[in-house]
Parts: sequence; structure tokens; C-alpha cells
Amino acid sequence: MNRTLYGNLIFELSKEGRRGYSLPSNRFGHYALPQELRRQHDAELPECDEMTVVRHYTNLSGNNFGVDNGFYPLGSCTMKYNPKVNEEIAALPQFQNLHPMQPKSTTKGALAVVKMLEEQLCALTGMSHFTFKPYAGAHGELTGLMVIDNYHRSRGDLQRKKVIVPDSAHGTNPASAAVCGLEILEVKSTEKGLVDVADLERLVQQEGPNIAAMMMTNPNTLGLFESAIPAITKLIHDCGGLMYYDGANLNPMLGACRPGDMGFDVMHINLHKTFSTPHGGGGPGSGPVGVREGLQSFFPVVSPYYGNFSVLLKACVYIMSLGRNYIKEVGPLATLNANYIKESLKDVYALPIEGLCKHEFVFDGLKDKTTGVTTMDVAKRLLDYGYHAPTIYFPLLFHESLMIEPTENESKDTIDGFIAVMRRIAEEAKTHPELVTSAPHDTPIGRVDDVLAAKHPVVTYRQLLNDKRDD
Ligand SMILES: *Cc1c(COP(=O)(O)O)cnc(C)c1O
Repeated sequence: MNRTLYGNLIFELSKEGRRGYSLPSNRFGHYALPQELRRQHDAELPECDEMTVVRHYTNLSGNNFGVDNGFYPLGSCTMKYNPKVNEEIAALPQFQNLHPMQPKSTTKGALAVVKMLEEQLCALTGMSHFTFKPYAGAHGELTGLMVIDNYHRSRGDLQRKKVIVPDSAHGTNPASAAVCGLEILEVKSTEKGLVDVADLERLVQQEGPNIAAMMMTNPNTLGLFESAIPAITKLIHDCGGLMYYDGANLNPMLGACRPGDMGFDVMHINLHKTFSTPHGGGGPGSGPVGVREGLQSFFPVVSPYYGNFSVLLKACVYIMSLGRNYIKEVGPLATLNANYIKESLKDVYALPIEGLCKHEFVFDGLKDKTTGVTTMDVAKRLLDYGYHAPTIYFPLLFHESLMIEPTENESKDTIDGFIAVMRRIAEEAKTHPELVTSAPHDTPIGRVDDVLAAKHPVVTYRQLLNDKRDD
């Protein structure tokens, strides 16, 4: 590990007695906390002057990679352009200083935003009601499955406890079903990467009266449009189940088609993917759940108030800034960009499923399998060229999955630059494979040992200081 570039810890910069602040003299007297609430020893805090602290954190922040400083072709998790107008509106004091307990008469504007967003999402999806309580996509899935479970219970149909999930699904689908107390039935994919309808028919025949729902992602996680949806929804509805749509990445569908029109009953959308809003580092997110007319009374209460209000607001601004006409270009552009990259690289990267994709696609590693260079190596080498790595080793259908999603927002120049670097790495894999297999070379931390990091995580500064001393 290259620690010189990584910099010092703030604790290493500490000098006893140094101060970056001083408190005003105490004009209020002393109010003693009960003994049992008091520290037994002084807190171990670094002692630094202000400039040292400011420079330390400013320099560290330069190690971040974000969509605002580079191309981020992460498949399935869409890190998109986050228009600055979103931030400007969200920073208005009338929004920023909202408190959930303030009098209703003063929150009408905020409630109007939520109502407006509900109308926009209904128009875009063909659903008739949304709840904004869920804080993330997975939370939305759980909420949506609870709606379905509540619906079956309300009819006394208590044995419907199984959910069909395609083998290509995002891992949160089976996880959410399990958290909801439902059992998972996996349906296979065909060689073309689509739901295998014959396998589904078999499951429906065997389990019909036990099936609560089927979850589908469309386009699926291979970026393919599930063309058999009419037949699939009929099969599931005829056996008494409901159809759930994972709309985490709905951008390729915007302006093209609507889950409600395809026969889906319940869906979630990741506002933090499809409708911009930054979500690095695990948050903040929002996974509103939409239902068709008649199911809205089954919404459970999964969080207080209106979920993540600032994310709702930014999504609403994004939709309004595009407007009715331009939002229709999102889907076609996302599709065009993905197909352009796929076609430009498929002579050097292995494309297991040919044909038109939607917003993303999957390579199965390099086409030349004799170089010894893996998908992991390609992803690491991309960091040296200043790109975020695509999603790797997901979906699990291929050994060397490399999943690329450019999104609709990137210019042709950016995309051409990425294509050129991907071709260059494929060339390096032939001529200088060791350059690729030992990458990255130019990042603050070189190739880490995943297993060691997982088995012996260094989570405190003391551990790190000890490690440094041992080196
Ligand atoms: C990201 C994603 C999810 C989960 O969303 P989170 O907000 O990360 O919980 C579910 N399904 C698909 C297809 C996704 O891409």
C-alpha cells in the first residue's frame, strides 16, 4: 500500500497545547453534570491550529471521486448529472429550514411540492398513487411487498407467501422479499438474457395458489427490454398474484413506455438514480412506491413524515426543468449512449448478448482470454486514467461481468474519451499485461488486498498508527 500519498492522520499532526479556537469566558457559572454522566478521562482529541485542520481536510477531499469531477459509468446504480439548479432551490431557506413539527399552515408550499411530484410520477409511470416514505430503493421494495402482502391478507388469501424473482435481479429484490417474510422462487433467464417464460409457466403450475407476486426489473439488469411482459403479467394475474416493477433505473423508459400500461400493480422508483440527486457514500436516497388504483389503502407506515424531503424537492425540480417535452428525450438518449459504447468496444471486449440494449449493457471481460487480465484489472486500470470503474462481477450470470451505463447526460466527447481508454487498456492487456494486473499506479492507495481488508478491517486511528509503526 502506498501510504506516502495517503497523507497523515489528523492525530499525527497534533501538537500538545496547540489550539485552533478559544471559548469566550464563562459568564453563566458552573452547572455540574451528575458524576455518572461525566468522562473519567479527558477525550483524546487532536490539537491543531486552524490552518492545519483546514488544509488537512481540504487536501483529503481532493481524493474523492464524484460525478462532478469525472465520468462515472457505473451500471445499475446510475450516478447522474445533478443539475446545480436543484441545489439552488433546495438551499432556499424556506425549504432548508423546514421542520416536520412546524404548524401546518406554514408548510403548505412543501406539501404542494410533494403533491406535484406525485402527479408527475403518476403521469410518467401510469400508477395512480405514490407514497414518499421509503428512504431508498430497497426500502421501497420492502414497502411495495408489504402493500402486496396486506392486499392478499385483506382478502383472507393467507397462503400467498412466495415471490418470483428472476436470477438476473438486483440482490435487494430477494433480500427485501425475505425481510418481508416471503419465500423466494427463482425463475431462470434464457440464453438471450430474458425471463424464461417456460420456466415461469412451470413455477406457476406448481405454486399458483401460493404466489403473492412476481418482481421484475425492466429493462432488466442486463439492460435488456423484457419483451414477454404481456404474457408474463397474464400468467401471474391469472394465478392471483400481483406484478411488482423495480423501477430503480427508470431513465431508459422515460417518454417511451409506462409500467402501469404494461400491467404492473406496484412499483418503486429510485429518485436518487432516475431523477438525479447526488447519492454518494450511501445517501441520501428516496424510493417512492407507486400503486394502481385500489391498492393505496394498503400502504404501510415505514417512516415518519414525508421521507427525505430534500430529495423529493430536487427530483421535482429536475422533472420541471426538463418539462413535458424534454423529459421524453431522456430514455432515447440513455439508450443511444449505451449502444454507442457497446458497439464501439465489442471487437475487443466479449459481448455475451448481442443486439440492442437499453440504458446499460454487460461485457464478459476482455475478448482475448489468453492475456490473463481480468475484469478486476481493467476496472483498476481505468482509475489510472481518471475514470470511475463500471460495475464489476454483477450480474452473476457471467464470470467476468463488466457492466457499463453512461447515462443520458454525457457528451459525445466524454464518451469517445472513455471508449479510447477502454481500447487502450485492451491493447495494454496484450502488450504489457503486468501494467494492467498491478494497477492502479496513480491513486493515493494502490491495489488493496480485498480479503485482508474484509478479514482484518482497520477501523480506528490507533490501529492505523500501529500498522504504520510496524511497516
Ligand atoms: C440500486 C438498485 C436497487 C436498490 O436501491 P437502493 O437505493 O440502493 O436501496 C434495487 N434495484 C435495482 C435494479 C437497483 O439498481
